[in-house]
Amino acid sequence: MLKLPSPSTKRIALRVTPAAERAIRQGHPWIFEQAIREQSHVGKAGDLAVIFDKKRRFLAIGLYDPNTTIRVRILQRLKPAAINKEWFKAKLDTTSQLRAPLRDSPPKRLTNGYRLAHGENDGLPGLVIDRYAETYVIKLYTPAWIPHLNDILAALGDIFPAERIVLRLGGSLKENKFNLEDGMVLQGEALTAPIIFSENGLRFESDPVHGQKTGFFLDQRENRARVEKLAKGKRVLNVFSYTGGFSVYAARGGATEVVSLDASKPAIEAAERNFKLNFPSSNLHSLIAGDAFEVMTEMKKKDRRFEMVIIDPPSFARKASQTDGAINAYQKLTRLGIEILAPNGILVQASCSSRVESDAFFDAIHLTARRAGRLLKEIERTSHALDHPIGFREGEYLKCLFAYAP
Ligand code: SAH
Repeated sequence: MLKLPSPSTKRIALRVTPAAERAIRQGHPWIFEQAIREQSHVGKAGDLAVIFDKKRRFLAIGLYDPNTTIRVRILQRLKPAAINKEWFKAKLDTTSQLRAPLRDSPPKRLTNGYRLAHGENDGLPGLVIDRYAETYVIKLYTPAWIPHLNDILAALGDIFPAERIVLRLGGSLKENKFNLEDGMVLQGEALTAPIIFSENGLRFESDPVHGQKTGFFLDQRENRARVEKLAKGKRVLNVFSYTGGFSVYAARGGATEVVSLDASKPAIEAAERNFKLNFPSSNLHSLIAGDAFEVMTEMKKKDRRFEMVIIDPPSFARKASQTDGAINAYQKLTRLGIEILAPNGILVQASCSSRVESDAFFDAIHLTARRAGRLLKEIERTSHALDHPIGFREGEYLKCLFAYAP
């Protein structure tokens, strides 16, 4: 057991504005500071807050945080509940059942890397749990979870025989006064090397301590499988490759050449290791460490062509004010991608920014292609993977277009 503060036994009673009441009834997981009308007492992060409706009936219970504008994160609506180990167990049981197609994957397509709990969208706001083989990574985005961490660990331990549990801390949580460190191993042996896990029968490494996200972009699994189906006989360029997820799938799909391009040297080195892990004797794979915009411009000048270009950049819009800039960047990438795409080649372009709406994104790609004289023919527009459900509007972030460029 970690030495952590316990949540106060005294619950905070709250009443909120009619609009906030409606939002809660409709399943919205957050109550903002400005929506609070009455409050019984000042509490501390992680205390439980009970929201009563205008007729003073129980409406919801959630995690209180006095220091952020999202003041309460809703855990349960309409039915009162004790929030303890048993409650977390029931929750994780449900999230695990929703992942059954991954959890129970057949040996040939073994998948033991997936998101077990996807925050707000799984009714656990501000909490993410990813599985990589027998290691589980818990990522907290609010200090309100800290007093409940021991209960979560106990619940997780009861359901899954984890070899190891790693803690990741989001943003402001990195500086806390509870001796919790980002990347610390809470249970099991220290990590001396990346973890090897499986996805659709392919093997990948993930470094849950130093890697981006919790070590791997699990959310692109289904798009990677789509790339595999389309890659046969193609020269494939994987732009923003990170550790080469799309590259390895393209190779299994029968690509004749695969190039991974990323600005991060450690990421493309990991991409090469991932490639070798699956195809030890193949020499199809090459690496470019560099800026995507510059390298693609150079490729165009040198007449380098591909039959498939995959573009999966980082989020360009972290704030609402950056949305236009993001669309601009997406359009530049579409232009560059199309210019190095052979006739009838396939463009795969994704956005992981929740600030950029799907329609705006898809329209921007089409417009740019049209201006470049290539009318795109769509194969598919895709959204979220099974283990990254969308539970509320703000939870929708991933979109991807698969299209031929005649
Ligand atoms: N497609 C990857 C995830 C991409 S994450 C996957 O499926 O796993 C975004 C990646 O873009 C990161 O690896 C980051 O290093 C890289 N990146 C960010 N800016 C870049 C730039 N200007 N040029 C090239 N790579 C960049």
